Amino acid sequence: MKNGWEAVIGLEIHAQLSTESKIFCGCSTRFGDEPNSNTCPVCLGLPGSLPVLNRRAVELGARAALSLGLHVNEVSIFARKNYFYPDLPKGYQISQYDRPFSEKGLLEIMTAERDEGGHAREWRPMQIRITRLHLEEDAGKNVHEGLPETERYSYIDLNRAGTPLAEIVTEPDFRTSWEAYDYVNHVRRALQWVGASDADMEKGNLRCEANVSVRRIGEEKFGTKVELKNLNSVRFMQRAIEFEIERQIALIESGGKVTQETRLWDERAGQTRVMRSKEEAHDYRYFPEPDLQPLTVAAEWVEQIRSSMPELPDARRGRFTEQYELSFSDASLFVRDAALADFYERAAAASNPRGAANWLKGELLRELDAAGRQADESPVSPEELGALVRAVEEGRISGKQGKDVLVEMFKTGKGASRTIEDLGLAQVSDAGEIEKIVSGVLAANPQQLEAYRGGKEALFGFFVGQVMKASKGKANPKVVNELLQKKLKAE
Ligand code: ADP
Ligand code: MG
Ligand code: ZN
Repeated sequence: MKNGWEAVIGLEIHAQLSTESKIFCGCSTRFGDEPNSNTCPVCLGLPGSLPVLNRRAVELGARAALSLGLHVNEVSIFARKNYFYPDLPKGYQISQYDRPFSEKGLLEIMTAERDEGGHAREWRPMQIRITRLHLEEDAGKNVHEGLPETERYSYIDLNRAGTPLAEIVTEPDFRTSWEAYDYVNHVRRALQWVGASDADMEKGNLRCEANVSVRRIGEEKFGTKVELKNLNSVRFMQRAIEFEIERQIALIESGGKVTQETRLWDERAGQTRVMRSKEEAHDYRYFPEPDLQPLTVAAEWVEQIRSSMPELPDARRGRFTEQYELSFSDASLFVRDAALADFYERAAAASNPRGAANWLKGELLRELDAAGRQADESPVSPEELGALVRAVEEGRISGKQGKDVLVEMFKTGKGASRTIEDLGLAQVSDAGEIEKIVSGVLAANPQQLEAYRGGKEALFGFFVGQVMKASKGKANPKVVNELLQKKLKAE
C-alpha cells in the first residue's frame, strides 16, 4: 500500500447451510436439478402459503456460530426485508434484523504478511469483531442465455429460493487484503470442519462481499466505502481488494472522490468495475415476520450441539504442537482439514509422531495435492504410511528408496512391505546369509585380504563394495560392516 495510506475493510459472508431441505418448506436443496423442479407454494411465494422453520437449519446455524466462538441468542426474530427483484417472488426475503441469531462475537484468527509470490512470512494472531451471524433464506437465480444481437432470453430458476443461509458480518477491522484472505479461509475451514456448510466458493455455496475504503494514516474518520461482489474464490477476493485500495488512493490523490457504489471484480481484466451506484441507501422497510414465531433456542440444546462437535481446528493445532511436539507450521498444515488431521494422527500411531510428520508433509501430501485428492481419498492408508516410515527407520530400505516406494504405493494402492518386495528392494539383514557372501568375497580376493591384514586398512571400502555388489545392493550395510570388521581381523 502506498505510504501514508491505510485501508479499512469489512466482510460479509453468506454460507449455505448443508440441509437437505429448504429453510421454510420441505423442498430439496439439491443442486443441478431441472429448473424450478424443487419448488412448492411456500418457496414460490404463492398467496396463503405459510413458512415452517426447518429445525436442522437452526442446528447447523448453531454449529456455524459455535465453530466461530460465537454464542447463540436465546431469542431471535425473523424479519421481512422488502425489495423488488425478479428472483424474489414474495417481494421480500425472510431474514433477521435487530434481533439476530448471534451477535457481538470476537474471533481470533492467524494471519501473515505475504511476499511477492504470496508466501506467508511470519504468522501472528489477530482479533476480528463479528458484528452478527443471522439466518435467512436465499433468493432464486436469474439466468440469461443467448447473445444480445440474436435472441436473448432471461429465465428465472427458483430451485435455490429458500435455501438456508448464515450471513456473517464483521466490523471494519481488516487493514490489508491478506488479513481478509486469512479470515475467509478461517471461516471456510471452520464451517466445513463442523459440517455446517460445504463452504465451496466455486460452487457458490459460500459467497463473500468485501467493503473497502481508504483513509490517510492518523485520520479517525472512515472514508467512503465501496462494496465488491463477484468474488469467486478467496484469492480473487484478495486481488480485488488490493486493486480497489490502489484505485481509491489514486483517485483521491488526483483530486477525485470515491463514490459509494457496488463494483464487480473482473478476474480476466484484473480490475473492478461499477455494477450499481448506491447513492440513495436502500430502504428495506424491515419488519418482524408475522408468519413465524420468535425463534427460541434453549441453552441446553446449544450445549448438546457443542458437545457433539469435533475438536476445533485451533484446539487441535495446539494439541498437535504439545502432544506430538510438532512445529507451529507443521501443526497448522495438518489441521488444514479434518481428514488430514485424522490421517496424521493415525500415521503417527502406526509409527512415530516425527517420522509420520516428515513423510506426510514431505512426500505423501505432494502426491495428494498433485492428484487433487483429500487425505481421506488417499490410496496410501495412514497405517501403510506408518509401515513405510518404520521400514526406513529400521534400515530395511534407505530413505531414498522409501521415496520411490511411496510413489509406487500411491500408484498401485498396495501396502509398504508388499511394494518393497515387488520393487525388489528388501534388504538382506539376515546375518547368516550375509556371512556366506562375505566369506565368498574374502576367498575370491586373497591378495587384497593379505594386504589388508598387512596394514593396508584403506582396503576396507573395497571389501564393502564387493559384498554389496555380490548381494546386488540388497545387503544391509550395517550388518555388512559388522561382519567384515570381524572376519577381516580373524585368524
Ligand atoms: P450497508 O448498510 O451498506 O450494508 P453496513 O454498515 O451494514 O453497511 O456494513 C456492511 C459492511 O461494511 C460491514 O462488514 C462493515 O464492517 C463494513 N463497513 C462499514 N463501513 C465501512 C467503511 N467505511 N469502510 C469499509 N468497510 C466498512
Ligand atoms: Mg451490505
Ligand atoms: Zn418449497
